[in-house]
Amino acid sequence: MHIYQTIPGNQNDRQRPLEKCGVFAVYNYQGPGNAGIITYLGLLALQHRGQESAGIAYPDLDGMKLIKGMGLVDQIFNRDILNMITSATMLGHVRYSTTGSSNPSNAQPLVARSVDQSSIALAHNGNLTNTRHLHNKLLEEGQIFHTTSDTEIILAHIFHYRRQGMVEAIKRTMQEIRGAYAAVLMDEKHLYAFRDPNGFRPLVIGNSGPTYYLASETAALDTVGADFIREVKPGEIVMIGPNGLHSCLGKSATRRSLCIFEYVYFARPDSVIAGNNVHQVRKSVGIQLADRISAELDMVIPSPDSGVSAAMGLAEALQIPLEWAVHRNPYLGRTFIEPTQDERELAVRLKFNPISAIIRGKKIAVVDDSLVRGTTAKILTGLLRSAGAEAVHLCIASPPYKNPCYYGIDIPVAADLAFNQANAESLAEKIGADSITFATPDDLYKAVGSASNNYCTACFSGEYPGLRSRRGKVS
Ligand code: SF4
Repeated sequence: MHIYQTIPGNQNDRQRPLEKCGVFAVYNYQGPGNAGIITYLGLLALQHRGQESAGIAYPDLDGMKLIKGMGLVDQIFNRDILNMITSATMLGHVRYSTTGSSNPSNAQPLVARSVDQSSIALAHNGNLTNTRHLHNKLLEEGQIFHTTSDTEIILAHIFHYRRQGMVEAIKRTMQEIRGAYAAVLMDEKHLYAFRDPNGFRPLVIGNSGPTYYLASETAALDTVGADFIREVKPGEIVMIGPNGLHSCLGKSATRRSLCIFEYVYFARPDSVIAGNNVHQVRKSVGIQLADRISAELDMVIPSPDSGVSAAMGLAEALQIPLEWAVHRNPYLGRTFIEPTQDERELAVRLKFNPISAIIRGKKIAVVDDSLVRGTTAKILTGLLRSAGAEAVHLCIASPPYKNPCYYGIDIPVAADLAFNQANAESLAEKIGADSITFATPDDLYKAVGSASNNYCTACFSGEYPGLRSRRGKVS
């Protein structure tokens, strides 16, 4: 019997694309509490970016120490043990696997030690696109791998070049690796942050008095009471040490290609990315969706909890009520059932319960942030009809997914993507909805207030920054 776990991140429950990782680091923490507790809190704030494993690394008198394991942050770390850590500097990571399998050895941070007992630790968010080439090259040079993760390839390169100085080693490594990386490296005295020249994944710097922080999202800085200073720029290397913060160019930025789906749903609504609050971007897309819907509607309801911000925008623009008409059970845990279609439906019924007193006889717009396989939308639509809805119109606050992601997001294979099997009309019919309306790429660009060429949009446009696309385009 398979154990089917309904927590996000489980391989069997991939109704939504999954973010690969979150990174959090603190330098020279001066209390209250200690760096262990602060890193734990920072990782909790980034839990949505990875639920398979988590870990921390910190320098100690006898070398780099690691605590990591499989599961959620609060399942792995023990408060009493964290409280005993004396290091004021620490590096943490939450992971969901896209490259490399889900097993304890792939949990990050990864540590490399030399014979002289010096060591470095690395945590990485993203996905390299020339992994196979680099892996083969390192194997030929005699490298022994301990994991199946592309992060070890980055670590092996930096370790190989370390005698040239850490900044130079990172610079040399950045010339060889391709793809998406927002990474933090730690040695005994410094933290180093570096980001790929396209800036696919976010990475921010914060401070509070003499303490510096690095995090995947500003929400983690808010959680630990730090002020946002700025983002790590695409192609930049930042070094934080006893002499403060220093920066240099690691590799010239080519075309900025921030993942636009960070705004759609990967990031927390309370985070700010490239100057835009994520909730406000989602709400703005919802407002623009109002121009695309011609159906008569009585109310808007969000798909819990992913469609809330866009639903607020849509209801506001249409001037109709926004109702909390589907209860989501937050206490699911394990359901111990087989991942068959019937039992998947049972799991969704366990998760969602529509409130028929609100829904009966009403024409409803159901708003979600995206549509991937369409399984959840289909079951939710059926539940709403059973609860007495007169009409169910699906509104999706992003363009349809059509292509896989090579930059650190786990999207189901193209054949499983709902829109690749149907057009909007036949898709609505398949799902059982009266209609389905998607946001357009222009709705997203308008919401983020920036030109399309500042973003990666490959999963709906097919234009892969730095890669030859299926249509033969390199952007
Ligand atoms: Fe983001 Fe899609 Fe680009 Fe992947 S392909 S980085 S999910 S926009």
